[in-house]
Amino acid sequence: MANALITGVTGQDGAYLAKLLLEKGYGVYGLIARRGTDTLWRLRELGIEQQVELINGDLTDLSSLIRAMEKSQASEVYNLGAQSFVATSWEQPLLTAQVTGISVTNMLEAVRIVNPKARFYQASTSEMFGLIQAEKQDETTPFYPRSPYGVAKLYGHWMTINYRESFNIHGSSGILFNHESPLRGIEFVTRKVTDAAARIKQGKQQELRLGNIDSKRDWGFAGDYVEAMWLMLQQDQPDDYVIATGRTTTVRDMCKIAFSHLGLNYEDHLAIDPKFFRPAEVEVLLGNPAKAKAKLGWEASTSLETLITMMVDADMRRVEHE
Ligand code: NDP
Ligand code: GDP
Repeated sequence: MANALITGVTGQDGAYLAKLLLEKGYGVYGLIARRGTDTLWRLRELGIEQQVELINGDLTDLSSLIRAMEKSQASEVYNLGAQSFVATSWEQPLLTAQVTGISVTNMLEAVRIVNPKARFYQASTSEMFGLIQAEKQDETTPFYPRSPYGVAKLYGHWMTINYRESFNIHGSSGILFNHESPLRGIEFVTRKVTDAAARIKQGKQQELRLGNIDSKRDWGFAGDYVEAMWLMLQQDQPDDYVIATGRTTTVRDMCKIAFSHLGLNYEDHLAIDPKFFRPAEVEVLLGNPAKAKAKLGWEASTSLETLITMMVDADMRRVEHE
């Protein structure tokens, strides 16, 4: 069976994708960056820590990526590693450019040098649409990124297309809209809300401080979205696909779903804090996943209500046991 290399294997999507590929019988290799703290908790929660072959390396270090390609003998490469938090990208714009942008070229170069026949997936994002140029965004909608993160991702997106056109690399780019899960990083708004709801319910926190609760996102479940990544690399031809649910919801209504699941009224606990407003905001995102449905046979199968209640339940258990 084939081997796959995942960068960002310790992140939300990396963990779900590793599980999916293991279930399909792949030998799964994951690039792991040196950190002062334990980053394997997600792989542990999914019960696959021992099954993923970890390779030390960093996306900013081309030589380590070449070694990872050699060691893994991967025929499929999923480039999920990034500085992925939009708010941080204004505080560390140059690091974000290096890790989220330039590093895509590092990974593409490693593929080109070691195994140019390997199939490559790039984790592009709806943040590239930013100040939206169409009510529903699809593969033909012009981009207008609104953060250093969005700008860096746009560079990686175009480099993937460029290596496809220049060197015939089987590079596909998934333009994924926001996707969440119980394994979502705590800094992202859904997880911040579900964690706070659980703490408030258990008397361990009094209030929840948020920024712009009028902004709207097209939120799906990460477990569904990693299936789309795999499907893209099974196609004869590489291409770009929007992956979304086709429904958009305000942060406010998402809070309502989370709190009411626990019998709470979010308005009793919410405080608006200017600290969480962004220098430039992406007010609304709404994807049109018609191409993914037609060509990949993919569609989102988890509703926002199911997703948020799943996250709240997981946080209730975590908070109870800490
Ligand atoms: P996470 O933030 O959960 O994971 C990011 C991963 O990148 C982590 O494993 C992190 O490692 C790794 N990483 C960061 N810097 C480096 C580095 N210098 N070298 C090697 N690895 C590094 O992101 P998600 O799983 O949510 O997202 C996966 C990808 O998809 C990202 O590229 C993200 O930008 C993109 N995306 C995500 C969306 C979403 O809604 N989740 C939407 C659209 C795109 P460590 O744990 O050690 O920090
Ligand atoms: P993003 O779409 O990748 O930026 O995902 P986030 O989950 O970080 O943010 C989604 C939306 O929630 C953005 O419009 C944020 O401005 C908004 N938001 C409002 N309050 C907060 C907050 O306290 N934290 C975060 N992360 N986002 C918030």
